[in-house]
Amino acid sequence: MTLLKPCSKNGVARHFPVEDFRTYADPELSRSAPWVEGVCFLPECGRVFSPSRSWQIYCCAGCEAKGKAELRRYGHKAALALLTWRMGKYETNDPAVQATARAARRFVTHVQSSWLADRQARAELRGQG
Ligand SMILES: [Zn+2]
Repeated sequence: MTLLKPCSKNGVARHFPVEDFRTYADPELSRSAPWVEGVCFLPECGRVFSPSRSWQIYCCAGCEAKGKAELRRYGHKAALALLTWRMGKYETNDPAVQATARAARRFVTHVQSSWLADRQARAELRGQG
């Protein structure tokens, strides 16, 4: 299995920039976003607020920091599995690589489900009290 191409001999650094999801999927998100405009996207907050910017999804700097930390935490948890899945996705000969790619895919689904359940539980707790 060849996962990485060898470095070119001319030594030119290659960069493959990828825009963030909100930029990439802007047309779709403008029609259907997972957040509600003017409602804080942090599940344990959910406060109604007046956005000062069109892209604002958190009510305040504190919620934004917590939201970014959440994205970072789950992103870090899933990153290696995302890469592993993609590296072995089209493997046709090596059953061990195929099994690892399937485990990575299952793990990504597991992280997604756990994250959504965590957010739903935090939103539910907000409703109580
Ligand atoms: Zn908030």
